[in-house]
Amino acid sequence: MYKLIIFGPPGVGKGTQAAQIASKLGLFHLSTGEYLRKAVEEKTELGIKAKEIIDRGELVPDEIMIGIVKDALEKNITPEGFILDGFPRTIKQAEELEKIFEEIGHKDITILSLNADAEEIFRRLLKRGRSDDSEETIKNRLEVYEKTTAPVLSFYDGKHNIININGLGGIEEIYKRIILSL
Ligand code: AMP
Repeated sequence: MYKLIIFGPPGVGKGTQAAQIASKLGLFHLSTGEYLRKAVEEKTELGIKAKEIIDRGELVPDEIMIGIVKDALEKNITPEGFILDGFPRTIKQAEELEKIFEEIGHKDITILSLNADAEEIFRRLLKRGRSDDSEETIKNRLEVYEKTTAPVLSFYDGKHNIININGLGGIEEIYKRIILSL
């Protein structure tokens, strides 16, 4: 059973890689960003609240995100396993996720930490053209990442297996690196 968390800065290619890994290995793929964008599109209560936050490049409150992930993980226990993409993004989320794993009985989580240099990331994000990919929002997202999300990796240090992956190169190339490291 694969129990994976894909981790890294915005624009490093987490979503693309997570989708490929999930489809090839038959894993449940939970992208919290995708989940929120769908809610925005459907104009649900969550979507209306989340839209402004996303467009500013800020983080949706922890309690909301933790609720979403808890519910999804409890409902989707596939024997092949899961890959979390875009969560956890704060220490609080990581702490609560540990409790959820404990409740469900998931041990031995693997963190796939995708890396790329800041210049490459900025270039990729500008090219992507999502509604939260304006220059100003990108800058804020990268700042939020450095300040609030990057420390999550240290939280996992010594707790779970962390695999560092070079995120530079073509999609297939990076995918192969990931698969070979698992
Ligand atoms: P992503 O597609 O992962 O880049 O997420 C897009 C946006 O959704 C982020 O910039 C946040 O505003 C919001 N978001 C996604 N996941 C989370 C999370 N775990 N905690 C808080 N906000 C999130």
